This record gives sequence, structure tokens and C-alpha cells, in this order.
Amino acid sequence: EAKKAGGLRHVRYHKELSELANKELYLVEGLHNALEKGELFLNFQPQIETETHDIIGVETLIRWKLENKFISPAEFIPIAEKTGHIIQIGDFVLRETCKNIPLIEKEIGKELLYSINVSARQFYQKDYIQRTKKILEETNVLPSKIVLEITESIIMEYTDFVLKSLQELKEFGFQIAIDDFGTGYSSFKYLELLPVNIIKIDQSFTQAIHRSRTKAIVQSIISLGHNLDLKILAEGVEDLFQVANLNELNCHYLQGYFFSKPLTLENLLMEYKK
Ligand code: C2E
Ligand code: MG
Ligand code: MG
Ligand code: MG
Repeated sequence: EAKKAGGLRHVRYHKELSELANKELYLVEGLHNALEKGELFLNFQPQIETETHDIIGVETLIRWKLENKFISPAEFIPIAEKTGHIIQIGDFVLRETCKNIPLIEKEIGKELLYSINVSARQFYQKDYIQRTKKILEETNVLPSKIVLEITESIIMEYTDFVLKSLQELKEFGFQIAIDDFGTGYSSFKYLELLPVNIIKIDQSFTQAIHRSRTKAIVQSIISLGHNLDLKILAEGVEDLFQVANLNELNCHYLQGYFFSKPLTLENLLMEYKK
């Protein structure tokens, strides 16, 4: 009996594994021409000033509609990193964002910041900086409007290459944000030495802010930000209790479903029309 059950479990395990492998193959296949087929597009999630509740920026988040089903970026971005498609996708995200800035600012009636997620594979490409600068020049966008969101996984290997790259991006005018702050290999060393403008507190902290220990950690990150002259943004803000606590701690900016889900361009323009 036991052997039989074990055998079944074994079979099921293999079935799940091969389904997983099939799904990955399916996504790898799909990624080859997702851009050409126009299946990839952008969503924009508003970022809000805590004091005024005014919109100050948007984060660009990619969306993929494959055969009428949405594939989550959490699922396909890691695959695109492995296959290298992330390079083209990354250029697409930045270029599409830049192309839409004049329309967005005309309709909303104010200047915004535009946050773009940068993956490690992109960042470590030898020509990353050159390509990125070129897109800004081609679209005639002021670099200081663009916030490049990097994760701690990029700066974990705190090397000369990382330092020089970030310095060059900063000199060109880009702003730099640390995404998902506190979830990776957090180190004070990079905050001491790297040109960072914004810290994005990970949503796991925001959503546990009712716990006193979590609140103390968030408070420390925010005061660190104030002392280093960095802006602090809390991600994943979902309810009024979190808003009130982050406001009390003087967190500069907020982003999350409480204010808005990521929106299509059309809906962004409609919701925030001047
Ligand atoms: P991220 O950069 O940390 O983006 C925030 C994620 O949290 C987004 O998920 C957003 O939709 C979600 N979110 C925003 N507010 C809330 C909230 O109040 N509650 C909850 N539960 N979630 C919230 P999304 O769009 O599925 O993206 C997931 C991740 O995929 C992103 O995390 C980012 O790491 C990556 N990603 C998305 N777009 C791009 C892109 O264009 N390029 C690269 N390299 N990565 C991207
Ligand atoms: Mg991000
Ligand atoms: Mg994040
Ligand atoms: Mg993330």
C-alpha cells in the first residue's frame, strides 16, 4: 500500500514538474515575438505625496496579454532575464514611457516623475548606459524626470562597475531609487557611497505596520531617509490605517491600491485629468 501511495506521489510530482517545465517553455516561446505582436503594454501606478494626496509620479509596470490571458510580470520577468529578452523589453518600457510623457503631462496638467524597473541583467549589459541615454535623447525627455528603480540584488555585489555605472547615470541626470528596500541584502555601505535619491520601502513592511516592531523599523528607515536627504516612498499601501501611520512617521510618498491600482494609459488620463 505504502509503496503504491509513494509511487503515486512520485508520478504526481513528475507530472507537476513537467507541467511547470511546459509552462516555462510556452512562455519562452511566447516571449520570442510578444513585442512584435503587440502583446506587451504598460500600466501606470500613481505615486502620491503623503501630505497633500497629490499625484507626484507614476511607476511603469509591464503587462503581457498572451492568448487572452494575462501573465504576471512576477512570472515572466525572471524568464525574460534568463533568455535575454529583458534587454529588448527594458528598452521598450523606457521608450514607451518617454513617448507618452508629453501626452500625460498635457492631460494631467503637471510635471510628474516616471519610475522604471531595471533588472539586473539589463543593468549589467555593457552598453546599458549608452542605450538608455540614447532613448532619452531620441524622445527628447529630461533625464531628471526618470527614476531608475534598482533592487538590492543589483548593488549586492558592490563593485567598481556598479558604482561607476550609477555615478554616470546620475551625472546624466537620472534619479535612482532602491526598490523593495529591506528585503534583500541591505547594507549601509551602499547608502553611504552610492548616489541614491529615493528609497522604496517594501510592501511587506507597509502591510505589517500595525505590528510595533515593524513600525519601529519603518520609522528608522524614514528617519534615515530624512537624515541622508533621501525621499522615502512606501509601497503597497492598501488602507487608511497604513496611510495614517505613514503620515505620522513623515513618509514623503505613498503608492498602493488604497490610492490606485496600476492603470492603463487611457484610465490614468481619465482619472487624473486636470
Ligand atoms: P515592483 O517593482 O516592486 O512593483 C510593485 C508591485 O506591487 C506591482 O506588481 C504592483 O502592481 C503591486 N502593487 C502595487 N500596489 C499594491 C498594493 O497596494 N498591494 C499589493 N498587494 N500589490 C501592490 P506587478 O505589476 O505584478 O509587478 C511585479 C514585479 O514585476 C515588480 O515589482 C517588478 O519587480 C517586476 N516588473 C514589473 N514591470 C517591470 C518592468 O517593466 N521591468 C522589469 N525589469 N520588471 C518589472
Ligand atoms: Mg518597482
Ligand atoms: Mg517594489
Ligand atoms: Mg518587486
